[in-house]
Amino acid sequence: MTDSEPRPELDDLLANIGAGGARISEIDASEAGAGNISILIGWDIELRRRFPLVSEIELPVSVPSLAGKALLVTGSGRRLRQIAQDPLASVGAVVVHEGGDAATLRTSPSRLFERLTSEFNSHLAVHEDQVSRRGLSFQAVVHAQPPHLTYLSHIPAYRDLEVFNRRLVRWEPETIVALSEGIGILEFLVPGSPEMMAANVAGLREHQIVVWSKHGVMARSDRSVTRAVDRIEYAETAARYEYMDLMAGQKAEGLTRDELGQVARTFGITSRWA
Ligand SMILES: [Zn+2]
Repeated sequence: MTDSEPRPELDDLLANIGAGGARISEIDASEAGAGNISILIGWDIELRRRFPLVSEIELPVSVPSLAGKALLVTGSGRRLRQIAQDPLASVGAVVVHEGGDAATLRTSPSRLFERLTSEFNSHLAVHEDQVSRRGLSFQAVVHAQPPHLTYLSHIPAYRDLEVFNRRLVRWEPETIVALSEGIGILEFLVPGSPEMMAANVAGLREHQIVVWSKHGVMARSDRSVTRAVDRIEYAETAARYEYMDLMAGQKAEGLTRDELGQVARTFGITSRWA
């Protein structure tokens, strides 16, 4: 988002989180309380009216580049499918203090969570990295647990960037267009660990979606929650085709390298997988 683009109102951002959460649930990518969403807001936004309750929190990771900026973050244990009905019950607003080690957490009287998502450190680290390197004023980050992508990550041969992307871009022409940077794939790392956080940040520099092996995915977008969710949907659809093909005894041809090349040329896409 550039400075000349319209800046959405708080209610529109909350509605966007709700719609993204609903879509993630519709594609079965977040059972019960799984999955979480955050938005970075790099401009002044009025938070007091919707989020009048104030507390001070220590941040799980230092984010000096985010000082003075606000984040909307889903609460731990809240179900993504329920956010749309009452976003204020499931979302908190965080305003980062100078230095980036602490923040003010603003919540609504209708808040139904104790703490912010346990994956908050991974979200924060991605926001810090992208803001410090690219000067973003908006970013949406979504973690979900799509079953076909996650299943494939349990097969050792698929935990290889080249193999994973070669196999997945071949099912629909849209995939190479929507995910031209490919899908990053990380080894299994303990959720919430510093190793997970660092690998995720590095992966999301190269790709707009990364698979956390044996766990789920994280996607980011400079534009909206919807765009980040779209990336998850494209990747999960590709993984579902791949899974179907494995089940069917690998009878399918898939798009050939030549056909992928034709698609890339037609749509003006540069991709190492086309
Ligand atoms: Zn998870």
